[in-house]
Amino acid sequence: MNVRTIGAMVGFALMTAAASFAQIPDEAAINKALAAAHAKYKGLQEGKNADYIPALAKVDSNVFGLALVTVDGKVHTLGDIKTEVSIQSISKVFTMAKVMEESGTDAIRDNMGVDATGQVFNSIVAVEQYKGAEMNPLVNPGAIASTSMVKGANYDEIWNKIIGYYNDFAGRDLTVLQDVYESEAATNQRNQAIAHLMYAYGHIKEEPVRATDIYTKQCSVGVNAKDLAVMAATLANGGKNPVTGKQVLKSEYVPEVLAVMATAGLYDDSGKWLYRTGLPAKSGVGGGIIAVSPGKFGIAVVSPPLDAAGNSVRAQNAIADVSNALGGNPYAVTPK
Ligand code: GLU
Repeated sequence: MNVRTIGAMVGFALMTAAASFAQIPDEAAINKALAAAHAKYKGLQEGKNADYIPALAKVDSNVFGLALVTVDGKVHTLGDIKTEVSIQSISKVFTMAKVMEESGTDAIRDNMGVDATGQVFNSIVAVEQYKGAEMNPLVNPGAIASTSMVKGANYDEIWNKIIGYYNDFAGRDLTVLQDVYESEAATNQRNQAIAHLMYAYGHIKEEPVRATDIYTKQCSVGVNAKDLAVMAATLANGGKNPVTGKQVLKSEYVPEVLAVMATAGLYDDSGKWLYRTGLPAKSGVGGGIIAVSPGKFGIAVVSPPLDAAGNSVRAQNAIADVSNALGGNPYAVTPK
């Protein structure tokens, strides 16, 4: 191979890399957008911490952390990014991804469905109405069923697989916030009932009590805004963690993950959110929200006070502003 051939190959490789990263917003624009959103919403006092899990009511309502990670692995953070909150429902995305990785995407669609229920996330009426089908993995019946589908011989094997998978998405070892876990485990009778109904209808095949407990533990994993943004950026980057370089989820499954997030990521306000931002996203009652701009970036904001639908008030506003400033909406196309 002569020097010219090698030169041409290097040139082509650089052009290809530049083309695939062409849409990533530049660093100055990202920092400006994050600073503007932080300044605008820092003092916003709307919403209230979740309190149906007693430990969540005690979390500092002023925590406000923002993080954006681009698909080329650049990490931008602002505000309170040290404080960990419990991941809560955001975990449902990554357990669903684990099931897809192990059993394929049809397994999710065929066992619990991928449609919005039109009911609250822990609705028992929805389970009854559809006999546990026509759920999706981001509401509690589908989520506990997802957890039950992770393969493993016993509790520890299943749990280690789940937390190990979250670690791969976050790029560091995460731990359970024990107080949150104990608090929810003591008060999760409703989720136990949901799991038993899903078991009765055959969508959970065995051990509904174990599935509910592992689900409760996965919801109690502690994360900061940066962790969540790296997890979101891994989805934005075709399943490959842009910081560690590890392919965590097969790229071919990412569109299905994002489709479920777009359909049901923000509880009953999922449609409003998609209308406002176009971003597949997921919120949790711990106050975190992740959002994915495919091929561009993952963004996350942590701020505990929630609106009536259960979504963090500051996080929704901050993510919408930052994404809109950076051209994050995947549906917004400039005509050629
Ligand atoms: N662990 C919570 C529950 O099952 C998660 C709820 C959420 O974040 O939406 O109630």
